Amino acid sequence: MTIPFNRPYMVGKELDYIIQAKQGNMLAGDGPFTKRCHQWIETNTSCAKALLTHSCTAALEMAALLLDIKPGDEIIMPSFTFVSTANAFVLRGGVPVFVDIREDTLNLDERLIEAAITTRTKAIVPVHYAGVACEMDTIMDIAVRHGLRVVEDAAQGVMSKYKGKALGSIGDFGAFSFHETKNVISGEGGALLVNDKSAALRAEIIREKGTDRSRFFRGEVDKYTWQEVGSSFLPGELIAAFLWAQLEESETITARRLHSWEHYHAALASLESKGVLRRPVVPDACQHNAHMYYVLLAPGINRQQVLAELKRNQINSVFHYVPLHSSPAGLRYGRAHGELNWTVTQSERLVRLPMFVGLEESQQDRVVDIFARATS
Ligand SMILES: *Cc1c(COP(=O)(O)O)cnc(C)c1O
Repeated sequence: MTIPFNRPYMVGKELDYIIQAKQGNMLAGDGPFTKRCHQWIETNTSCAKALLTHSCTAALEMAALLLDIKPGDEIIMPSFTFVSTANAFVLRGGVPVFVDIREDTLNLDERLIEAAITTRTKAIVPVHYAGVACEMDTIMDIAVRHGLRVVEDAAQGVMSKYKGKALGSIGDFGAFSFHETKNVISGEGGALLVNDKSAALRAEIIREKGTDRSRFFRGEVDKYTWQEVGSSFLPGELIAAFLWAQLEESETITARRLHSWEHYHAALASLESKGVLRRPVVPDACQHNAHMYYVLLAPGINRQQVLAELKRNQINSVFHYVPLHSSPAGLRYGRAHGELNWTVTQSERLVRLPMFVGLEESQQDRVVDIFARATS
């Protein structure tokens, strides 16, 4: 019996809500289900304005437009992240400046940010890896002192908190992902969190092809016109209907994932004591969402062999990320600040274990057993 790496979890009401949306004859975006999702995000994160997008990638692209990124502007971000973090800014001519990660959380190392700031620096993009928050107090303090903007890539951080604040609600903008590999899903999907009320109207315009159509639908203007450069970033109503079912159950989803996370954590403690691997670190300030369970193999343990052994036993495990700074596009469009030693070493040691709602403890125990054998 194969244990998949991920299995998208359906809460049960997704298709009912899709049928409701269809019966309401509102299939384009910004219908009743989209409004409910917006309301939910605003209430649960305390952001000033939430806007569904068709992906987290789209939300990051909106943030780059909202920040008026111009060719040559520098954006500080980790190299240990998904490509969308960088692409969104490169599309506007921005230059990603890759800064190393912390050894413990694998998040952007806040102690290295200031040395990477130049006269061209425009923004900092912290990525909350595995739904564990970056050191946001320090990052916001640096941003304020240097007049920089902050975009949180909270793709993995739905339902996570930093000192009681929802991830995505702390910087100027935050970006969520509802991709099927994340915790709360709609197949493809995302949201932009706008934390400064004064940017809300512009965000709506950019999301609606650069028009003030949203104001027109609210009856605030009598026709809608082209206001500025934008694109179509909103999802259709069927996606929002699916997402609404998931948001309603987001507490349960998170609790069940946390249960599996804790089970791995306890079961892998002895392998950590033996020096075979290092388990994830969650600082006290962070309330995480169990997006991921990863381990870092000790130096000298061959990851290729471990992954092959898991695969031979029908367990699908994966690694990531291939660091951006040394990738073909990263070399062309960005630059590394310093050596990025932890980015290189940690990304080569990392193994992600199967994690999804419905993963059974007996399956987790099998994963840990095979893991113990493969590393002994
Ligand atoms: C998943 C992910 C994204 C992209 O999300 P999409 O919704 O697929 O566009 C961006 N950044 C990070 C860190 C991610 O994990």
